[in-house]
Amino acid sequence: MFVEGTTSEVLRLPQLHWRNPMETKVPEKVVVIGSGPAGWSAAIYAARAALRPLLFEGALSAENQEAGRLPMGQLTTTGYVENYPGFPPGDMRNYLNTAISEDRLYAVPEEVFDDSATQRGISGPALMELMRRQAEYFGTRVVSEDVVDVDFSKRPFRLIDSNDDVTLAETVVVATGASARWLGLPSEERFKTNGVSGCAVCDGAAPRFRNRPIVVVGGGDSAVEDALFLTKFASQVMIVHRRDELRASKILAKRATDNPKIEFLWNSKVVEILGDDANGVTGVRIANTASSDAATKEIEASGVFVAIGRRPNVEFLHNALELDEEGYIKRPIPFRTNTSVPGVFVAGDVGDSRYRQGIVAAGSGACAALDVEKFLLEKSADNS
Ligand code: NAP
Repeated sequence: MFVEGTTSEVLRLPQLHWRNPMETKVPEKVVVIGSGPAGWSAAIYAARAALRPLLFEGALSAENQEAGRLPMGQLTTTGYVENYPGFPPGDMRNYLNTAISEDRLYAVPEEVFDDSATQRGISGPALMELMRRQAEYFGTRVVSEDVVDVDFSKRPFRLIDSNDDVTLAETVVVATGASARWLGLPSEERFKTNGVSGCAVCDGAAPRFRNRPIVVVGGGDSAVEDALFLTKFASQVMIVHRRDELRASKILAKRATDNPKIEFLWNSKVVEILGDDANGVTGVRIANTASSDAATKEIEASGVFVAIGRRPNVEFLHNALELDEEGYIKRPIPFRTNTSVPGVFVAGDVGDSRYRQGIVAAGSGACAALDVEKFLLEKSADNS
């Protein structure tokens, strides 16, 4: 969202346009859409089952950056992942340098090579790069485009990507995850490139926030984690939460309450983001949610980080799959990854409004690939 910062730098890198024109009319056995833990895990399992998966990882476009759905999933917007099994505290430097190919090391922020930082486990971007590398190692082909439209009315399915190419697929795994929700204020829209952000890890280090107060909106794990991260740069971080109790896990909540730089503004909601074109965000106007008093108060802030949850990335489907009332892809068979269309499977947060954890997404990606394999076996038995 900002001109400076990790994600924006990534935008300047050359993009990968994997394409074999001879193959575009031959249906792929399985296409995976999405490059978070669910997508890579589905690809690893499918590749090892000799299904030669083709994975759309998404495009590094400014539009995707603004919408908060850049490739490699939500974990790339997280600092440290401490609850993904297999990564106890330790110095990961050697392992990352040898496991991740040199041309992808740009995607792993510098701090993961700092010994003290690695004591906490693994950074989100590094974890995602490891998954990508593992999937490629087993033969996954990666396309750096978005799928923008689908035709699931008959098999092979048709997928149209942001390069206007058409890919045919016998089966599809939808693993497009979820992206940031916004407050919906006109002033939020106005300052999105000038102090309002949905990604603390991407934008928090920008000079405009250094040694100045910052507001974080929300009361879940994301808001608290963002606030803790932002204390590295800001003079003070104010968490504006609409209730008087955090939704965040106890361990994160305790870290935040123990941090002298973090202040809580309970029973409060942001009703306007204040600022001007020259300076961007200069503050917020907040109202009390627990009283009928219409009075509001202004708080000085150099930025507003919105962390009020996620919405599933399903727009490109144009209703080709049934969704639940919250917009997540419906899974008609309990404990299975099937969707409303036979041959299309779902994995990760785009079909999960409940757990929304990297480890759960990775597990469901494996399930989806196993369901794909079974589906294709049954189809080939039907045809023989
Ligand atoms: P979340 O758990 O759904 O929390 C969203 C927060 O935003 C809630 O506190 C909610 O308030 C508030 N909120 C929602 N709509 C709002 C609005 N319009 N205005 C103001 N506030 C609003 O979302 P999340 O924090 O992004 O977490 C999503 C999932 O990822 C969770 O399962 C979480 O555990 C996981 N996660 C885990 C970690 C970790 O383990 N380190 C880190 C980040 C996220 P109420 O509480 O009043 O509903």
